[in-house]
Amino acid sequence: MIPKTLEKNLSVINPATEEVIAEIPSWTPEQLERAVANAKMALGGPWAKISARERGKILLKIAQGIQSRHEELAQLETKNTGKPIRDSRDEVNLAADSFEYYAGATNKFFGETIPVTARGLCMTLKEPIGVCALIVPWNYPLVIACWKVAPALACGNTVLLKPASLTPLTAIELGKIALEAGLPEGVLQVALGSGNAIGQQLISHPDVVKISLTGETTTGKKVMRAAAETLKRVSLELGGKSPNIIFDDVDVKACVANSILSVFSNCGQDCCARSRFIVSAKITDQFLTELVAKAKTLKIGDPLNPETEIGPMISNAQRRRVLDYVDIGKQEKAELVWGGTALDKNNGQSKGYFIVPAVFAKTTSNMRIVQEEIFGPVVCVMPFNDEEEAARLANDSIYGLSGSIWTNNAARAIRMAKAVKSGVLSINSSSSVHLEAPFGGYKQSGLGRELGMKALETYSETKTVFFSEV
Ligand code: NDP
Repeated sequence: MIPKTLEKNLSVINPATEEVIAEIPSWTPEQLERAVANAKMALGGPWAKISARERGKILLKIAQGIQSRHEELAQLETKNTGKPIRDSRDEVNLAADSFEYYAGATNKFFGETIPVTARGLCMTLKEPIGVCALIVPWNYPLVIACWKVAPALACGNTVLLKPASLTPLTAIELGKIALEAGLPEGVLQVALGSGNAIGQQLISHPDVVKISLTGETTTGKKVMRAAAETLKRVSLELGGKSPNIIFDDVDVKACVANSILSVFSNCGQDCCARSRFIVSAKITDQFLTELVAKAKTLKIGDPLNPETEIGPMISNAQRRRVLDYVDIGKQEKAELVWGGTALDKNNGQSKGYFIVPAVFAKTTSNMRIVQEEIFGPVVCVMPFNDEEEAARLANDSIYGLSGSIWTNNAARAIRMAKAVKSGVLSINSSSSVHLEAPFGGYKQSGLGRELGMKALETYSETKTVFFSEV
């Protein structure tokens, strides 16, 4: 729902064409204030009175509403983010699946009876927390919104969803779909405006009791500080610098084919990107040769073309940031063996924020390109000599979000899975996310877990009730 009084517009750009594709009204502080009041009021309205099962039916209708507009939403996401259309189509499915999953969870998440010492009956109730501010980034705008909104609604909360300024379009459509599905007014409102204005106001607002942010680690720290004032509940999904650990017993060609997109897909703008390839010294040269050969074949270009594998970066500023990191890598004496250049007028690409993915060899753990989250298509390859060194390199990071281990030795895979400090790990796979399983980070990659039934804990309060029998 977009309020009628407008302050200024957010110009939404297609990063593949650099054209303005929408002008979106930014909320004033007064509009946000009214929206929080509406959300607070909606907590006690019809939403509070319907059964868990009825809530589930509304969520299921939202899932169906998303699916019924599948292609339209996929096109919109691609035009707004530049991601390849085939990825957007998958993401719209995942968005709908999130609502379907939590639709089924509403009446399967409940308290317990506890055999306490006192004579009587002790039970717990699961209750909504209240008004939740759900703040999402620009790299997976619709999917991440749905990962937060669906469990928050499943628990009976009301929601202010704040999309990133660069990518508000699919969030606005989600708000409309939810109303069409029968969600009462005020239960889900899409708050439009910048993080520094609307976002900051949300995280400081005394009537917002829960914040869930997916964003940069620095933004997460701001959220924690602001939340401390009124002791809000906080969930944070933040940055990453994830390892891809490759042992010498793998089929190198197959491993490269399976893991190259774990760092380059979404143009590297992925919190789970395996941006540190930690490769057995016995196969590092062979691995690098295969990696570069494969990188050269990646189809970069028009994201609406179904063949495209790599679209543009989200903005010129983000591309500039990546190019600056490529320069830093060269100054640090890492060896740039492929890519790392802008695809622009100088090489036949007249529009869009395209870049050739970069492969760095001869990197060491103390380099900035190895330690800092670049959030672009840059991979650093480092050799290791034994398991202990592989685990040490993998853990030498302030982050701990995701990662992969490639080996055909099951015992080694188990030892490594235990040794690597990370919230999500895949063995012989590049996948990070399963809707039914918890997702989140160790260390400075975040706080709390999204997805699966675990997420419901973070959107509910537990009340203990004791009935005396004496
Ligand atoms: P930002 O932290 O810059 O922004 C994320 C969201 O927070 C946006 O909606 C932004 O609004 C808002 N925001 C910014 N500042 C504030 C503030 N002071 N108060 C409240 N809200 C604020 O991240 P990006 O959008 O640049 O996304 C990239 C980051 O997200 C990367 O670090 C990436 O690793 C991380 N990420 C983490 C994931 C995970 O699951 N762990 C998944 C995906 C991304 P606005 O856009 O208006 O600035």
